[in-house]
Amino acid sequence: MPFCEVIVDIAHSDVDKIFDYACGEEIAAGMRVVVPFGNGVTTGFVMRIKGESDVPPQKIRRILRTDDGEPALTAESLSLASALAERYRVPMALALRLFLPAEMRTGKVAERHRTFCRLTGEDPRLSPRAPQQLALVAFLEENGEADSAFLREKFGGALDALLKKGAVVAEKRRIFRDPYRGVEGERTEKTLTPAQRTAVETVVSTEKQVCLLHGVTGSGKTEVYLTLIADVLAEGKTALFLVPEISLTPQMLSQLRARFGSKAAILHSGLSAGERFDEWMRLREGTARIAIGARSAIFAPVENVGIIVIDEEHDGSYSSESSPRYTTFDVASLRAAYNGCKLVLGSATPSVETYQRAKKGEFELIRLPERINARPMPEVSIVDMRREVRRGNPSAFSASLRDKLAQCLSKGNQAILFLNRRGYSQTVICRDCGYVAKCEHCDVALTYHSEEDCLKCHYCGARYRLPPACPECGGKHLGYVGTGTQRVVTELKKLYPEARILRMDVDTTSGKEGHFKILKQFSAHEADILVGTQMVAKGHDFPSVTLVGILDADMSLHFADYRSGERTFQLVTQVAGRSGRAQEPGEVVLQTYDPDNAILRFAADYDYEGFYAHEIAMRAAMLFPPYATIVRVMVTGEDEKETLEVLRSVYEKLQKIYLAHTEQFLFFNRMHSPIKRIQNKFRYQVLMRLTGGGVLKEVYAVCAEEKHKSVLVYVEENPANLS
Ligand code: ADP
Ligand code: ZN
Repeated sequence: MPFCEVIVDIAHSDVDKIFDYACGEEIAAGMRVVVPFGNGVTTGFVMRIKGESDVPPQKIRRILRTDDGEPALTAESLSLASALAERYRVPMALALRLFLPAEMRTGKVAERHRTFCRLTGEDPRLSPRAPQQLALVAFLEENGEADSAFLREKFGGALDALLKKGAVVAEKRRIFRDPYRGVEGERTEKTLTPAQRTAVETVVSTEKQVCLLHGVTGSGKTEVYLTLIADVLAEGKTALFLVPEISLTPQMLSQLRARFGSKAAILHSGLSAGERFDEWMRLREGTARIAIGARSAIFAPVENVGIIVIDEEHDGSYSSESSPRYTTFDVASLRAAYNGCKLVLGSATPSVETYQRAKKGEFELIRLPERINARPMPEVSIVDMRREVRRGNPSAFSASLRDKLAQCLSKGNQAILFLNRRGYSQTVICRDCGYVAKCEHCDVALTYHSEEDCLKCHYCGARYRLPPACPECGGKHLGYVGTGTQRVVTELKKLYPEARILRMDVDTTSGKEGHFKILKQFSAHEADILVGTQMVAKGHDFPSVTLVGILDADMSLHFADYRSGERTFQLVTQVAGRSGRAQEPGEVVLQTYDPDNAILRFAADYDYEGFYAHEIAMRAAMLFPPYATIVRVMVTGEDEKETLEVLRSVYEKLQKIYLAHTEQFLFFNRMHSPIKRIQNKFRYQVLMRLTGGGVLKEVYAVCAEEKHKSVLVYVEENPANLS
C-alpha cells in the first residue's frame, strides 16, 4: 500500500510540516485530500507518493477521500510553492494556496452543466395529431442537437414524450461560463516592422533568460508580445501574459479575443467567481493555453510554459501586499527557470532596478526607440503654476491649457486630464515658490501628521516643526493644494458647457465593470474629455486623443518615498503617451510649481537615459535601492501592551543580528510606524537599511519564529510605502 506526504491546509507554523498517511493507488501528487487530523478532519495537499514511511505502522492513519479526479496542482506548482515558502519564510499551506483560486479552495463554486438533446435514430412512429412532437423532431433533424431547457420552452411537453419513447436522448455535459460575452474583436493582422521583427528574433535567440523590452509609448510592444506568444503556441507550448489589472482595456480584450479565441483564459477582477473558476479549469485541463491577467495570473496552472511576458514591468501592482509578500518578477523567474523559457519584461519606463540589471548585462536589453510609422512623440510644454497664482488665476487650469483645450474640442478631438492625487494631501508645499519640506538626513519629502501636528520623515523617523512661513521665500501660502477630480469636472463644465465629460477615479470605478464601462464609452467617442487619476495613465490606445493635460505634475514628486522621482517620471511619460497615437500629432500640457525640476525636464524631453543617469546617481549617493535594501519588520496587534511586548522581543533578537553584522547595516531602529493605528491595530516597526543581502535571511528567520495568537509579525522588503 502506498503512502503519501501531506501538507495540511492550515496556515500555522506549528503544523507546517509533512504528515505521512496511507492511501490507495488512485491518489497522486497534487491532489487535495481530506484527512483525519488530531480529533477532527481537515483538507490537505498531497506533495509526494512513496512506497514506505518511517512512521510506525500502528500510528499511521489513512486518508479519508479526495474530490479531485485529476490533481488540482501541477508538479511545477508543488515545486514552486516549496521555493516560495523557503524564500518568504511562510508556511507551505500559504504558499500552496497561491496556486489555487479561492473558488477552488472553498468549494463554493461548482462546475456548470447543461443537458443537450439529440435524435437517437429510432423511429418514433408519430401520430399527425402530435404536431409539437413532429415539429421537435424536424427541428433536431435540422439542427443536430439543442439545449433541453430551450426545447422544453419551445415545444412544451413534446420533449418528455419523445424522451420516453426513446426517440430522443439527453446528455449532460460540462459547459464553461464565457467571460467574454459581448466582446467581439476584429482580427487585424499586422506585418511586423523591422524593429519589431528584430525584437522578436532577439528574444528567441539570446542566451539570456530575461529580456527587457524598452520601447517608447506607441512603439508596438504589444504586437511583439503577441507574436512571441503565437509562436510558442504553435510549438505546442503555453504562455503567461501579465498586465497590470487596469490595462485589461476593452481594446486589449478584443485584440486578444480576435487573435487567440478560446485558447486564451483571462483572469481579471471583473470576473464572477464562477467565471474565474471556469477559466482556471480550462487552463488546468489544457483547453486554454494562454493565461492573461494581473499579478496572480503568474500562478496559472499551465504546463510546459514557452514564454512569460510582464507588460509595464515597473507597475507597483506587481508586488503583493499580503502574505506571502512576493514580487511577480521573483515568481516569474522561478517559472522561467523551471520551464527553461524566456521571461520578457516590457516598459516605456523600466524601473531603475530593472534597467540597471539590463545595463549590467544580466538581462538582454532590446530597444524600440520609435513610435509605429515614425509618428512623433507629442510635444510637451511645461507651465509654471506659480506664475498663474501671481497673475491671480486660482483655478486648476492655466491659461495655456484652457486655450489648447478649446482648440482640441473645436476640432472634434478628445482630451485627457490627469490629476495626481496619491499621497499628496500629507505633503506641505509653498504655493508661491514651490518649496517642499524635506528631511535633512534623507532628502525625501516630509509627511504631515495631524494628530501630533508635526512633519515626519518616514525613512529615519526624524520630526520637524511645521514652519509658520515658507523658509525659502517667506510666503504665507503653505498648505495642501489638493484639487479633486470632482472639482475639476465642475470647473470644466462651467468653462465648456457643451463638452461631454467622463470622470474616472476610485469613486466612479467601483462595481464589476466600473472602469471598463468608462473606457469603452470614451473609446467610442461618446465623451470629449476624460478626467481621472492614476488609472487613466496606463496603456490605453485612444486614436482621437490629441491633448493631455497633467494638472499637478509635481504632486507625486514630493511624495515621501525615495522612489517618488521615478514614479513621477513614469507617470508623466505614461500619461503623455496617450496623446497623438494616430494620424494627428498630439500635445501635452504639464502644469507644475517646480518648472525647473530635473525629473520633469527629462520626462518632457522623453529622455529616459538622462533620467536614469540622474536617478541612479542619487540612489548611489543617498544609499537607497538598488544600493541598499530597505527592510521593515512590522509588528501589529489590537492590544497595545501585547504588541509592544512582542516588539521588544523581536527587537532584541534583531539587535543581536545588528551587533554581529554592523557593517551590513546603514540604519537600524525601532519606532512607531508613521501611522500608529490602522483598522484598530497598533503598528510598531523595526526599520533597517542593509547594504548586503546576507543578513536578510536571518531577519526572516527571527520573524518566522514569532508565533502569537493576536500579534502579527512580518517582513517587508523595499515596501511600496512606509506609512
Ligand atoms: P505600446 O504598447 O508600445 O505603447 P502598442 O502596442 O499599443 O504600443 O502600439 C501602438 C499602435 O501601433 C497601436 O495602435 C497598434 O495597433 C499599432 N501597431 C503596432 N504594431 C504595428 C505594425 N506592425 N503595423 C501597424 N500598426 C502597428
Ligand atoms: Zn530622514
